[in-house]
Parts: sequence; C-alpha cells; structure tokens
Amino acid sequence: MLNGIVVKAYNSYYYIQSGNKIVTCKLRGRFKKERFSLIVGDEISYTLTGPDKGIIEEILPRRSMLKRPMVANVNQVVLTFAAVNPDINPSLVDRFLVIAEFSELDIIICINKVDLTDIDSLPNLVDRYKQIGYKVLTTAAKTGIGIDELRELLYGKISVFAGPSGAGKSTLLNTIQPGLELTTGEVSHKIGRGKHTTRFAELLPLAGGGFVVDTPGFSFTEFTDIEQAHLMDYFPEIAKVAPDCKFNTCLHYKEPQCAVKQAASDGRIHPDRYQSYLEILTEIKENKKGY
Ligand code: GDP
Ligand code: ZN
Repeated sequence: MLNGIVVKAYNSYYYIQSGNKIVTCKLRGRFKKERFSLIVGDEISYTLTGPDKGIIEEILPRRSMLKRPMVANVNQVVLTFAAVNPDINPSLVDRFLVIAEFSELDIIICINKVDLTDIDSLPNLVDRYKQIGYKVLTTAAKTGIGIDELRELLYGKISVFAGPSGAGKSTLLNTIQPGLELTTGEVSHKIGRGKHTTRFAELLPLAGGGFVVDTPGFSFTEFTDIEQAHLMDYFPEIAKVAPDCKFNTCLHYKEPQCAVKQAASDGRIHPDRYQSYLEILTEIKENKKGY
C-alpha cells in the first residue's frame, strides 16, 4: 500500500498528496458504514486503481484536530499581526494566543509590516512575548525581511495562519512561495456563514515540503469552549505562578493572597497580560450567565 495525506475533499472524492503527485481517491465502503469522516490533513494508505486514481484502505490515527477550519494534524499556527496599519493591539494578540494555546498548536508570533515603522519602537512587545517563551518573528512581506526565517519554520509542518484581517497573511504566504494564495479572511467568512455552502479548507503544498492551510484559522475570537478555571493554562506565565496562590481554586481575580496578582504588580507578569486575562475571564463569566 502507498501512503499519502488528504489535501482536499470534494463530493466524496479525496485528493491525496503522495510523493510529488496528487491521486484522486474514494473511500473503501466499510468506512461509510462506520460513518467515519475523513478530513483534510488526515494521513491514509491507499491502493492504486489507475494511474492517478485509488481507493483509501486505511486511515492513520489523528494526532490533532483543529475545528476552525476543520483540519487534522495541524502542527503550528503563525499568528500574524501588522506592526502598524492597522497598529498592533496587544489585547488582540493575547486573545489569539489564548485560542491558539487552547487548540494545542505550536505558536509563532509574526509581526509583519516592519518596513512601515521604526523597528526600535517594537522591541518592547517583541521582548514581552519572547520572555514568556513564544517564538517571535518580525517580517515585511513587502521587502522580504524575515521571510527566509519564516519559510524555514514552515518546512515539513502543517501550518495555519491566523490573525486580524489586513495583517498581511496572504501577502506573506505569496512572498514565501509565489502562486500560493491564502483565501482571504473576508471571503471565507462570508461563504462560511451561508446555510448550505460549507467551505472546506485545503492544504497547499510548500516547495520544500510541508503544507499551509489555505483558510486562516479561528477568525472569530470567542471563548465559549473555555472554562474559567482553565483560562490560566493558556497564559503560560500565569500558569507558572498560580501554584503559589493561597487557594487552589484561585481565579486570580479578587481572591486574597493571590500570587498572580502579586506578580502582576511587581512586574514579573506584564500588567497588560494580566489585564487581558481578567478581560477574558469576565467575558467567559458573562457568557455562562446567558445559559
Ligand atoms: P490579510 O487580510 O492578513 O491576508 O492581509 P493581506 O495580505 O491582504 O494584506 C493587507 C494589505 O497590507 C495589503 O494591501 C498588502 O499589500 C499590505 N501588506 C502586506 N504585507 C505588507 C508588508 O510587509 N509591508 C507593507 N508595507 N504592506 C504590506
Ligand atoms: Zn491567584
């Protein structure tokens, strides 16, 4: 049997990238009985029934699944923000980080459009996230700054781009490999909302190996799936300090002898990060009330 990865699903056909060719496959009947739904990113084994045709015989276990868009085995997310135009908004960065952490993806923060600003005005923000342990890249899709470094990080992985619209996600991708074009956030948003037209993501193969998802990830930053008590797990530097709080049920809000609040006031946790935590915590609380 041969191995491949589902790069596109359409009607009950699956387009399998296998070596450097695409094989169009159908599922063996027994999978239909099992109501198993194969999605883009799944790894499979198949047998050939023609030069570029085959039947999927086996589906390998999924290592992970991203819901928006629905893609299996995504390794990492490139959270993309513009340094300026629109100005980077740290609270929005934190929101995307929470969703990315919740999705259990490796994270690369990419601050794009650095050609439009004095790079020295950014280190604060770059250092803030580096200190927490995040990988931070500064790029300019327009002039090529940082592109080689980003390209290297994408090799051999399945990556999804996410971030506010206008940050330069599709321009970056097109600079990395001309001809690859991310579906813009707006289009996928509109189509995705249609009642009967679900848009499925596709994987775009990179020249050096690896794939990028053609649809930006998690464009609506809501926190409906996150429990209040777990929110701290998605702020690595808060999770690190939290065991020192007096109460093990501490939400780091108004509880006495809270180590997190202490760390935020003496600068070990950035006050903006703590503020973002409190804002999201409040939103989760208010959401729950609605039910
Ligand atoms: P997306 O919504 O995140 O996919 O953003 P786009 O890739 O569509 O880019 C939004 C706008 O920013 C476009 O007009 C791009 O030409 C521009 N842009 C993207 N990257 C850069 C960059 O590095 N520098 C500058 N000056 N403009 C950029
Ligand atoms: Zn606490």
